[in-house]
Amino acid sequence: MRGGGDDLTPRSPHFDLQPVAEGVHVAIATDSGFGLCNSGIVDLGDAALVFDSMLTPQAGADLRRAAEELTGHPVAYVVNSHYHGDHVRGNSAFPSVHIVSTRKVRELIEERAVKMLESDRREVPAELEKLDRGGLVRAPRDRVVFEGWFRGILATPLGTVVPAPDLLVDGELLLRGPKREVHVRSFGGGHSPSDVLAFLPDDRVAFLGDLLAVGFHPGVTDGDLAKWREILDSVRRLGPERLLPGHGPLSGPSEIATLQEYLTTLQDLASAARRAGRTVEEIRATPIPEPFAAWSFGAFFPANLLRAYEQSA
Ligand SMILES: [Zn+2]
Repeated sequence: MRGGGDDLTPRSPHFDLQPVAEGVHVAIATDSGFGLCNSGIVDLGDAALVFDSMLTPQAGADLRRAAEELTGHPVAYVVNSHYHGDHVRGNSAFPSVHIVSTRKVRELIEERAVKMLESDRREVPAELEKLDRGGLVRAPRDRVVFEGWFRGILATPLGTVVPAPDLLVDGELLLRGPKREVHVRSFGGGHSPSDVLAFLPDDRVAFLGDLLAVGFHPGVTDGDLAKWREILDSVRRLGPERLLPGHGPLSGPSEIATLQEYLTTLQDLASAARRAGRTVEEIRATPIPEPFAAWSFGAFFPANLLRAYEQSA
């Protein structure tokens, strides 16, 4: 849908578009919309590429329209950064488009996408009740972001098909058009069992999926903290100047160190808990350290710390 006035930018309730370079835009998820994760839109010169398709078919459809209006080309590629629902369920709005990711992401989507939507929809009513009672909310934005997330799940019909990747990356895949090239890369799994990023060397822009979160606690429970920190070193070596996190604003390279510090803090707290012989309940009750206390999704912190504890053995 289009906004009024003289603004010709395609508009959606699910994201705000922001130009990054000529032919490169980011779609930053709105707090209340059904997008939840951020996406990238790239004009290759004869086709458009979309990085991450968002939480819902509705957001995916708006993303597709935005990409086609902004670039003037059909979408030829959708890159999935990893298999989590908020990054792939919008694939359903891109039938007959190449979905690009690793073999592992393909397997995880094929095995889990339908079941995960079913279990998410079963769990949402209880989560909404929790939210009503003031649970889950640790930072000012949490209420509206969680509510958008949960309502987005309810708005996704059961049986929604999530097309799985059909163009597989093993290390690096170069997608080249007349205007620019996009390096789709995987350094293995850090945030999830297999993570993919896109780097635009001419523009020095990186789309990182959930390998980076800015102002949000990342989800760590499906990840490997030590490998994640190493992957972030590899990202830094690519030399990106502007980085799109899975959640949070378009940022600079200093946010890589901030997230590494978050992961290191979890590891240090976990090691200290192990040395002190703390119980799971005591670990769960650990306060969020000050530098991260104001971040959204603080409700993730106890489980994140327990994941670090498991991995500290
Ligand atoms: Zn994720």
